Amino acid sequence: MTISSKSIDVGVLGATGTVGQELITLLDGHPWFNLTWLAASQRSEGRRYADAAQWRLPASRPEHISEMIVNACAPPGAPKLIFSGLDASVAGDVEATFAEAGHTVISNAKNHRMDADVPLLVPEINQNHLELLTNQSNQRGWSGRIVTNPNCSTIILTMALAPLLSFGLRAVNVTTLQAISGAGYPGVASLDIVGNVIPFINGEEEKMEAETKKVFGSLKDGAVRPHDVAISAHTTRVPVINGHTLMISVGLNRQAKIEELLRTFRDFSGPPKVATLPNAPKNPVIYLEQPDRPQPKLDVELNHGMTVTVGRLRPCPLLDFKFVALGHNTIRGAAGAAVLNAELMCADGLI
Ligand code: NAP
Repeated sequence: MTISSKSIDVGVLGATGTVGQELITLLDGHPWFNLTWLAASQRSEGRRYADAAQWRLPASRPEHISEMIVNACAPPGAPKLIFSGLDASVAGDVEATFAEAGHTVISNAKNHRMDADVPLLVPEINQNHLELLTNQSNQRGWSGRIVTNPNCSTIILTMALAPLLSFGLRAVNVTTLQAISGAGYPGVASLDIVGNVIPFINGEEEKMEAETKKVFGSLKDGAVRPHDVAISAHTTRVPVINGHTLMISVGLNRQAKIEELLRTFRDFSGPPKVATLPNAPKNPVIYLEQPDRPQPKLDVELNHGMTVTVGRLRPCPLLDFKFVALGHNTIRGAAGAAVLNAELMCADGLI
C-alpha cells in the first residue's frame, strides 16, 4: 500500500451528532486521513464546533476540533472525501448534491442504501460490490459517488452470519435488543426507556430484512442479486447505552455439526487485504466461550468497538442452530464501518 501519511483531506457531514462525534474520534490521528472540514444544520452553521456540539463521548474532544467553524452542508470548500452522519430527513438530497459535485460520500444514512447502483458495503463480506460504482457514474452522470454502510443492526447480523455463509443460509430469525445510542441524541425519552423495553423501532425490521439480502447478494452483470435467505426480524429498544445484542436462530442448507460451526467462527478472519487496513480489527468476529457472554457491559468495546462477539451456540429445535451476537452500534455499526469502507476504497485506488 502506498498511501502516504495524512495525504487525504476529509470532512464530516452531521459532525455534531452521535455518529459525527464517533467519526471525529476515529479520524483524529488517522494515518491516512486529515480531518479539515465539519458541517451540520443551520443551528450549528458558523459556530465554533465546541459551542455548536455538546461532546458526549468518554474520549475527550480533540483540541483542534474545538476551534473549527461548522460549515453549511454544501460542497463549496469541502474536501473530496466526505463522511456523512446526517439525519435521514436531509441525507438523501445533501449526499446526492455532494456526489454530483464530484465528492466521494461515505454514508451512514439509510437514504441511498437500497439504490441499485449504490454499494451497501461490509469490507469483510462483499468488497466486490464496489463494482457498482461504474454503473453509478454511468447512469447518474456524477463525477463523485456514494457508498453506504448498512443499518447498525444489519452490520452486526451480517458479521455474525458471515462465517456461516459456506454452510448455505436458508433461514434466519433474529430478535434485537438495541441500545439507546442507536436513536441518536437526545433519542428516546428517559421516562420511556428506563426500566422498560420498547418492542418497536420504526422501519428497523424492514431494513434488517432487505439490507441483509443485499449485503449477501451476488454480483452479476453489474447488479446485485439479493440473497434468497428468508429473514424474520423483531427489533426492540432496551436501556443499554451502547451495543446491540442479537438473538439469532439460523437454518442452513448443509447439515453441520456444532463443532464445525464453532471452528468456523473461531477461524473467521475476512479477506487478507481488509485485515491490513488501519481500522480493521485483527479478529472481526470473536467467539466467547463463557456461557453468559457476550454482554454489552463487558464486551462491546473489544478491539475499539470494531469486533462483533458471538457466543452461546447451541442446537435450535425450530431451525438448526441458535446463538447470540453483540456489536457496538455507533462504531462497528456506523462510524467505524464508514471509516473502514473509505480505507478499503483507498487501498483499492478508488480514492
Ligand atoms: P444525531 O445524533 O441526531 O445527529 C444528526 C446530525 O444531523 C447532527 O449533526 C445534526 O446537526 C445533523 N442534521 C440534522 N438536521 C439537519 C439539517 N436539516 N441539515 C443539516 N444537518 C442536519 O443522529 P445519529 O445517531 O448521529 O445518526 C446519524 C445518521 O446515522 C442517521 O442517518 C442515522 O440513521 C445513522 N445511523 C446511526 C446509528 C447510531 O447508532 N446512532 C447507527 C447507524 C446509522 P445539528 O447538531 O446542527 O442539528
